[in-house]
Amino acid sequence: MTESIYLDNNATTPLDSAVLAAMQDCMRHCYGNPSSKHHVGAAARERLIAARIQVAALLGCAPGEVVFTSGATESNHMAIMGALAIDPAKRHIVSSAVEHPSTLLLLGHLAAQDVEVTLLPVDGEGRIDLDRLASVIRADTALVSLMWANNETGVLFPIAEAAAIAKSNGVIFHTDAVQVVGKIPVDVEEVPVDLLSLSGHKLHAAKGVGALYIRKGLRLPPLFFGNQERKRRGGTENLIGIVGLGVAAALAARAIAQVGPGIGELRDVFERGLLERMPQTWINGASAPRVPGTSNLRFAATDAEIVLDGLDKAGVCASSGSACTAGGTEPSHVLVAMGQTADMALASVRFSFSRFNTVAEVERLLELLPGIVGPRIDGATQKVGG
Ligand code: PMP
Repeated sequence: MTESIYLDNNATTPLDSAVLAAMQDCMRHCYGNPSSKHHVGAAARERLIAARIQVAALLGCAPGEVVFTSGATESNHMAIMGALAIDPAKRHIVSSAVEHPSTLLLLGHLAAQDVEVTLLPVDGEGRIDLDRLASVIRADTALVSLMWANNETGVLFPIAEAAAIAKSNGVIFHTDAVQVVGKIPVDVEEVPVDLLSLSGHKLHAAKGVGALYIRKGLRLPPLFFGNQERKRRGGTENLIGIVGLGVAAALAARAIAQVGPGIGELRDVFERGLLERMPQTWINGASAPRVPGTSNLRFAATDAEIVLDGLDKAGVCASSGSACTAGGTEPSHVLVAMGQTADMALASVRFSFSRFNTVAEVERLLELLPGIVGPRIDGATQKVGG
């Protein structure tokens, strides 16, 4: 098999070699418990502090506002459960129909108990309606939780405006920012969210580490009780993972600041080339603002599994929707919420790029695709999404 071309970076990213080196160094030389008083503990504590500063710098917040977690699933749970625990009289949550399963499954669980959940619908391009958001907030709304970028389509929600609406109603605002952190500038001073989830393995750090930004002054009750993380998240810190996340955050900040073509350019070269060669391709969410690096498409009526299998045999990794639901034959809840039929959703494929991908890889993919997708089916679909 030829060298693989990895285009499933929204599922997970390869480790950056500098992240790996920092983690290896930590594994070898820094075994202390950051809570220990002796010098070995102090050395570990120093690395924990350094990583917190690096993550805070990427978000534009104070280090004390960063709580390390086991990943975004935990961060999302901590945000939602914590917001509900602040005021037991508030039992209503607003979110959207296209959130990640780590949010939607928790909300489903809560809805089966005593919590009322309002899921905002999206239009055909995956966008929410801000007037509708404003109209569903109530006196007993504990939280508005909206993802910043969709992991399947890359469609961006207007988080600054949504956070402002929540704030003007006195409601806590959380965003699952997993798919934007490290890809576009994120500054919690400019975008006034109260809580923000991120995940290490989406920005070239390890799996099993993430963070929750908690705005200063918001006293969010913990999910796990203990003295670590200033009593906000108990449990001895995953120092190796955290050190890697810190380095990954610093590298991401540098990559975002760099001039020149980034992953958005790769996505654009890919989509332009694809539409030239295969004009019947439909790009999901193409008319909405999208995060750079995500391309979710439907090739006429060809089943996604056939395309993905052909690509895999040719050495290319892509996916159908979210890795967290991949493997199943269920149509994507995101595409269905965008008004697509189950058949249309099952024909959609996601390519997601990282800073390690190259134009040469995109060109190779463009050469491969027509042969894998097969002959065009006349009159099957529209041109470009929108
Ligand atoms: N939210 C989004 C938008 C994601 O893409 C993911 C990862 N698929 C998660 C949450 C969960 O992150 P983690 O794997 O760190 O639990």
